[in-house]
Amino acid sequence: VAERLSHALVKGIADYVVADTEEARQQAARPIDVIEGPLMDGMNVVGDLFGSGQMFLPQVVKSARVMKQAVAHLTPFIEAERGASGKTESKGKIVMATVKGDVHDIGKNIVGVVLQCNNFEVVDLGVMVPYDKILDTARRENADMIGLSGLITPSLMEMATVAKEMERTGLAVPLLIGGATTSKIHTAVKIAPNYSSPTIHVVDASRSVAVAGNLMSDTKRRGFVDSIAADYDKVRASHEGRPDRRQLSLQDARAAKHRIDWAEVTVPRPSFLGVRSFPDYDLAELTQRIDWTPFFRTWELQGTYPAILDDPVVGAAASELFADAEGMLAQIVAEGWLTARGVIGFYPANAISDDDVALYADEERTETAATVHFLRQQMIKTAGRSNLCLADFVAPHDSGVPDYVGAFAVTAGLGIEPHLAKFLAAKDDYSEILLKALADRLAEAFAERMHERVRTEFWGYAPTETLDNAALIKERYQGIRPAPGYPACPDHSEKAALFELLDVTAANSISLTESYAMYPAASVSGYYFWHPDAQYFGVGKIGKDQVENYARRRGVSLAQAERWLAPNLAYEPAG
Ligand code: SAH
Repeated sequence: VAERLSHALVKGIADYVVADTEEARQQAARPIDVIEGPLMDGMNVVGDLFGSGQMFLPQVVKSARVMKQAVAHLTPFIEAERGASGKTESKGKIVMATVKGDVHDIGKNIVGVVLQCNNFEVVDLGVMVPYDKILDTARRENADMIGLSGLITPSLMEMATVAKEMERTGLAVPLLIGGATTSKIHTAVKIAPNYSSPTIHVVDASRSVAVAGNLMSDTKRRGFVDSIAADYDKVRASHEGRPDRRQLSLQDARAAKHRIDWAEVTVPRPSFLGVRSFPDYDLAELTQRIDWTPFFRTWELQGTYPAILDDPVVGAAASELFADAEGMLAQIVAEGWLTARGVIGFYPANAISDDDVALYADEERTETAATVHFLRQQMIKTAGRSNLCLADFVAPHDSGVPDYVGAFAVTAGLGIEPHLAKFLAAKDDYSEILLKALADRLAEAFAERMHERVRTEFWGYAPTETLDNAALIKERYQGIRPAPGYPACPDHSEKAALFELLDVTAANSISLTESYAMYPAASVSGYYFWHPDAQYFGVGKIGKDQVENYARRRGVSLAQAERWLAPNLAYEPAG
């Protein structure tokens, strides 16, 4: 039975785990022996295979599910025996949270599972967690480490705040930083200086075990912490020592804008103006538009779909994961687990300055429904290349050309909570994470499908377009759908105006957090630009002249604009 348990753990097979665990319990002197014997042995095999690159994250998360279900079966017996908790001695305790204002937690949850598999105790506070709750919990739980996670750029600032508060209130446990927008440089330059105890960027879930292990090891901790500190000192020194980025002034950048000869252009008129909502979009249709490559990246499997399924290294793990994903997707659709709801809108629009676009309430173009403020590239470009701003792709008011801009907000995450709760109750992290990852995929597929229908149908400027999914993923179509918070329009706070315009919160049930993250997390929102020159780009680093100008246009203080645009500043803001 010990071998069967080990096999079940390594292969992630949960089907017989309760029966086998029960059999092992009956053979063992004490129920705890089953955990400390065959189950830990099996998990050690998993840990070794993972560490040596022969097992991958989805498989480890599946193994953890088997482990948790076995432990859950044994816990009442252990408690009955000694009136205590059924926990074995842990390697260390970590309090983890997605910071205030952010709702993304797939990566954090994977890290939590991987750490638990390696016998760390994880106290997961979930998402949108204010710093005082993180600190209070760490104190109360006597945590050995704190882990912070976040996806959107405002979370970077919030993490620095947590570090400051840890310092102010005298905490001294290591602080681990992770999440898509975080980096070693940001951690070294912006977070670590606020906190006198170790602050460490954890680049991905696979690294988390080694980092936590080093921090908890009596022999390795000192050397590990010292080498990180030395490394971060170097990062800071080269960051501070770097010459100021040479940039164009805002004026020169505007002079190098992308020019369109609007006199030559026939603007296509959308088939309707104002909003149209899609309260319950067909999920089956959306499954056809899924871009699977980012799904594998979520699970730290590198490669492009569909080639990844035959990859010599990760192919087997990827195929197994994909089969599970397709199975759950079929269930999501057949049983209506999720509701996809979207709203789109089209507005008469003109650029009213170099970088601002007015969306009008009607064709008279006298009443403004919303003004959208964009940012312009200020990097020095090779001759003939423009310094782009999304406003360049909309006809200027002075041109007299009646142009249009669209907007959208879609979600595929409505109704997800009870299903997540069900999986968590069943100690099934694998399915919980899988469902969140699939909801994200469906939301992006919804954005893709809606954009396709906008081009061919609702705006109708490309009625004969026929692109397959691969071509759509490669953006081989006319026009773009840039999303606030992404490189061409990096300020998340512009979502507020977008949501008001579309009345998203009422019509669509997506809400915005104080950091302008969308909830449900599986949501996408943005603008539609029709002109063939419109392209995705990155604004990159911008100068203080533009930030001051932007603050004026937005009617906020310079400090506020600097907070919103923190990752894009080419200079060190005051204070
Ligand atoms: N096919 C990918 C798309 C990811 S990008 C996927 O399924 O994950 C996510 C969204 O960001 C896109 O739908 C688009 O709205 C927007 N986007 C992409 N590149 C952008 C850029 N450079 N600037 C602004 N928005 C961008």
